[in-house]
Amino acid sequence: MKTTPTCSDVFKHICENLDKELHSPQCRAMKRHMEGCSNCMTYLDSLKKTIGFYREYPIPRLTRASRKRLDTMLMMRINPRRAAKA
Ligand SMILES: [Zn+2]
Repeated sequence: MKTTPTCSDVFKHICENLDKELHSPQCRAMKRHMEGCSNCMTYLDSLKKTIGFYREYPIPRLTRASRKRLDTMLMMRINPRRAAKA
């Protein structure tokens, strides 16, 4: 893996580790990227809000399907053309 992750690396990684602690060197690289990238900051902000939304409702855990839907939804908000292709 490259030293500097791209936005899509960051997005993918966040989704894969949504409910894990982010302490690996890879995660630190992601965090460094996010701190300097408005695209990723927007994504992260949306993600936090969406997770907060899910937590307010009696959904015990994100299933794989709802995670995929969440990811698609957030992608559309940030990069509609790319999400349409996915
Ligand atoms: Zn980025």
